[in-house]
Amino acid sequence: MRAIGTILLVALFAVTALAAPQKPVANSGLTCPVSGEAIKSLKKAPSVQYEGRSIYFCCKKCVGEFNTNPAKYAPKQVVRCPVSGEVVKDPGKAQTASYKGRSYYFCCAKCKPEFSKNPEKYAKAQGKAQGNRSGMQHEEHSH
Ligand SMILES: [Zn+2]
Ligand SMILES: [Zn+2]
Repeated sequence: MRAIGTILLVALFAVTALAAPQKPVANSGLTCPVSGEAIKSLKKAPSVQYEGRSIYFCCKKCVGEFNTNPAKYAPKQVVRCPVSGEVVKDPGKAQTASYKGRSYYFCCAKCKPEFSKNPEKYAKAQGKAQGNRSGMQHEEHSH
C-alpha cells in the first residue's frame, strides 16, 4: 500500500514539474471582487457592466452576489493603466503586458509602448498609485 502511495506522489510531482514552466502566465492578474480568487482568463470569466466599466468574476455565483451589493464590491476591482493612472474600463479588451509575472492593462494603445520602454518605473508607480492617484502624468493624448 505504501509503495502505491509513493508512486502516486512521484507521478504527481512529475506532472506539476512538467506543467509549470510551459505556461508562465495562466493568470489575468485580477481577482474576483467577491471571492478574492484569482481570475485565470478574462476572456472566459463572467463579467458585469458597472458605472461604465467591466468587472470580472471567478464564477457566476459571484456575479449574483455582486448584484446584491455592487457598491460594496465594485471598488475592489479597479484596474488602472500603469502609465497614465487612468481606470481601464474593460481590461478584457485592453492592451496588456506582463512584467515580472504580473499583468498590466493599458488605457490606450499609446501607453503600452511607453510601459515597454521602462517597465520597472511604471510597475513601481502603479504599486504606489493604489489608493493615491495624484501626480500621474498623462500629457499628450486624450481619450
Ligand atoms: Zn466565484
Ligand atoms: Zn493612455
